[in-house]
Amino acid sequence: MALIVQKYGGTSVGTVERIQAVAEKVAQVRQRGDQIVVVVSAMSGETNRLIALARAIDERPDPREMDVLISTGEQVTIALLSMALHKIDCPAKSYTGGQVDILTDNAFSKARIRGIDDVRVRSDLEAGRVVVVAGFQGVDEHGNITTLGRGGSDTTAVALAAALKADECQIFTDVDGVYTTDPRVEPKARRLERITFEEMLEMASLGSKVLQIRAVEFAGKYNVPLRVLSSFEEGEGTLITFEDEGMEEAKISGIAFNRDEAKLTIRGVPDQPGVAYSILGPIAGANIEIDMIVQNVSEDNTTDFTFTVHRNDFTKALELLQDTATVLGAREASGDDSIVKISLVGVGMRSHAGIAATMFETLAKEGINIGMISTSEIKVSVVVDEKYLELGVRALHNAFNLEQNGVANP
Ligand code: ADP
Ligand code: ASP
Ligand code: MG
Repeated sequence: MALIVQKYGGTSVGTVERIQAVAEKVAQVRQRGDQIVVVVSAMSGETNRLIALARAIDERPDPREMDVLISTGEQVTIALLSMALHKIDCPAKSYTGGQVDILTDNAFSKARIRGIDDVRVRSDLEAGRVVVVAGFQGVDEHGNITTLGRGGSDTTAVALAAALKADECQIFTDVDGVYTTDPRVEPKARRLERITFEEMLEMASLGSKVLQIRAVEFAGKYNVPLRVLSSFEEGEGTLITFEDEGMEEAKISGIAFNRDEAKLTIRGVPDQPGVAYSILGPIAGANIEIDMIVQNVSEDNTTDFTFTVHRNDFTKALELLQDTATVLGAREASGDDSIVKISLVGVGMRSHAGIAATMFETLAKEGINIGMISTSEIKVSVVVDEKYLELGVRALHNAFNLEQNGVANP
C-alpha cells in the first residue's frame, strides 16, 4: 500500500464538473488500495477576485486581514471536493491548513511552513478516508491565518508529503509536465521526462510558474519524490530528480522568463566609496527586493547604476531613487516597467563554454537589444524590451535545438 499526496491547481478545480472529475480520479486511488491526501487550490480566478475586492477598499490593505480574505478560496474547494467524493461513496474529510496544524511563521502573504502535526491526517487515513487539505494556508503560533505566497498550494502539498513520508507527491495541473519553456509562449516546447531539482529550482526562481520555488526547495531538502502531471489526460508527466546517469546530457534544459520585473537607472552619480549603498540602502529599507544590479565603468568620476525590482514595487522604488538622485547630485533617475527577463538554464552549462555567446548572437540576429546581463554557473539571464519576449524565447528555443532532444544543443 502506497501513500500518495496529490495536488490539483485552480484550473483543475475551476468548475463543479472539474471538481467531480477530480473526485473520480481520487476515488480510483483509494479504490486500488492506496492512501491518499489531496491538496487543492482555489477555483481558478478566485484568488485574483478576492485580491481585487480588497484593493477596491484599500490599495495597501492590512496584511493580516488580507490573508484572512485570500485563504477563503481554498476553503470553498475543499468542501466541494469532499461533497463530490461523498456523492460517489468515497469517505472523505476536509481540513483547512490550521485544522491540520500547518504551522508557519507570521510573515503574512509569504509565510514559511515551520512544521506539520500529522496525527489527525494519519488517523483519518488509517480509518480509510481521503483527506482533503486546503492549500496555500497555515496558522502562526498565535493562531492567525497566514498564506504562503502565490502558487503556494504546491508547497502545502510537498510539505505534507514530507511530513507523511509519502511515496510520491503528484502536482496535477493544466499542462502535462514541465516543458523546455512555457508551452503557451512556444508551442514547439517539449515535455521533459525528468529535470533535476537544481534546474527546476533555477527555472522556478527565474519565472517558470509551473511549480512554486519553495515547493521545489522543500522537495529537494526532504527528498520528496515530486512529479508534475496533467489533470486532464493520462501520462507520465515530469519527474523532478537528483542528477543521475541516465539524464540527457543537454547543455541547456530550458528557458524561463519573468514578466514581473521593472528596471531603474540612476545616471551621473559621483563615483566614490559607498555609492552603491546610498542608492540601494533606501530601496532595501523599504522592503523592496532587488534582483539584477549593474554598475557601469566610471567616466569623468561619475557612473551609471541600473537595477531591477518586482513591477509591483516600481512606483515606490522610482520615488525613492529620485530622492536619492537629489541627495547625491546625480544627473537623473529614470525607470522602465516594460521589460522582461529571459534566462537559459542547464546544469550542462557548467562544462561548456560559449552558451552566452550563442545566446547573444541569436538575439542580435533578431534585432533584439540586450539591456542587462547576469550569469551564474547554470544560467544566463538577459533583460530585453517586453515586446520581444515571444520572439526572443522562440529564437533561443530554436537555436539550442530544444524542440529535439536537447543533447543536440550547439
Ligand atoms: P496551477 O493553477 O495548476 O497551479 P499554474 O498556472 O500555477 O497552474 O502552472 C501551470 C502553468 O505554468 C502552465 O499553464 C504554463 O503556462 C506555465 N508554465 C510556465 N513555464 C512552464 C514550463 N517550463 N513548463 C510547463 N508549464 C509552464
Ligand atoms: N490560490 C493561490 C493562488 O492563486 C494558491 C495556489 O493556487 O497555489 O496563488
Ligand atoms: Mg500554480
